[in-house]
Amino acid sequence: MDIHEYQAKEILRDFGIITPPGGMAYSPEQATYRAHEIGGDKWVVKAQVHTGGRGKAGGVRVCDNEREVFDAANEMFGKKLVTHQSGPDGKIVYRVYIEGGVDIERELYLGFVLDRSTERIMVVASSSGGMEIEEIAADEPDTIIRSVVDPAVGLTEFQAREIVFKLGLGATHVQAAVATIKGCYRAFRDLDATMVEINPLVVTADGSVMALDAKMEFDDNALFRRPRISELRDKSQEDVRETRAADRGLSYVGLQGNIGCIVNGAGLAMATMDMIKLAGGEPANFLDIGGGASPERVAKAFRLVRSDDKVNAILVNIFAGINRCDWVAEGVVQALKAGDLDIPVIVRLAGTNVEKGMQILAESGLPIATATTLAEAAGKAVAISNAALNPSKIAAVS
Ligand code: GDP
Ligand code: MN
Repeated sequence: MDIHEYQAKEILRDFGIITPPGGMAYSPEQATYRAHEIGGDKWVVKAQVHTGGRGKAGGVRVCDNEREVFDAANEMFGKKLVTHQSGPDGKIVYRVYIEGGVDIERELYLGFVLDRSTERIMVVASSSGGMEIEEIAADEPDTIIRSVVDPAVGLTEFQAREIVFKLGLGATHVQAAVATIKGCYRAFRDLDATMVEINPLVVTADGSVMALDAKMEFDDNALFRRPRISELRDKSQEDVRETRAADRGLSYVGLQGNIGCIVNGAGLAMATMDMIKLAGGEPANFLDIGGGASPERVAKAFRLVRSDDKVNAILVNIFAGINRCDWVAEGVVQALKAGDLDIPVIVRLAGTNVEKGMQILAESGLPIATATTLAEAAGKAVAISNAALNPSKIAAVS
């Protein structure tokens, strides 16, 4: 789960990270009020959206007076901010954060990620802050410092100091920078984060070390024990298809293809997607309906997959261990009879009560294609989907 910059900053402040003074605004009037409250003679108006690259897309504006603050906020509210990270659909701005402006002397990059190869938390830092880590990796790879944390001892003082020295920070900044690195690490570990990124971390003209931007991502599977984090979820920033699925307890990821997949179990879902690709097709989604799928749940899954206009065939692949094939079959029949479906459905069932399940499908009188193996099911789904995409080919065949 992603959170907003202002939320990440609020969390990180509790771990000793220094940030400029700031406040939230939900209207341009409130934005000027916040600027007035903060004081000073320079402010930064920042769109709160779940994407990076706001600066280049007009989502971060440095202002010199309250009128400019008003105008900047006024332009941002309700606008769809499209950045090179947001995808073509962009993200709508409903919240704006106002911060006191600071005089930047140096911009650094500081990130914490889970490194899959070492299976540990890794600190990534660079003296080239302000640009994205991908750009730094491409343009200035030599500036990147990587440091893996041993989980048995945690991030040590020595390790943090080493990073700070490699960043080339002077003696006056060492203590503050070490405190920042250690604080971010503790926040990452204590709150089940999967990513913490401070870009830029700046050294200001008056000598302090500050987080000017902050990004945090959290492990969805740990949210049950982090109620204060899960409250920070902002549905307005999520893919509608995925929000709808999460609200129904289904695990769904939208993809670009045409074959809708309804599968139980993440591993089987991956295998199904592989088989579709192998047969020359493209899956429209990943969907794991879970172990104890009731007919109602299966029907919900159908509606969800069908709500994607690109889908022109649906492949149901169920291996029933805990589940029961007859339940799934009833769900399929229920969904089709409700008139929700106007596209071909291919069903492959295996496991508990498979005979009963197949019987329910056969006796329903509905035009459902069935298959006994996954390869056969994928082959049929791809043939049907491709025929729908290129009607001329069928004409040629028949
Ligand atoms: P992002 O583009 O979404 O990563 O948004 P950031 O919060 O990182 O802001 C983009 C850039 O705006 C930063 O890299 C800074 O160069 C600049 N910026 C942000 N806050 C201030 C500020 O208080 N003073 C000045 N001078 N520049 C700022
Ligand atoms: Mn940034």
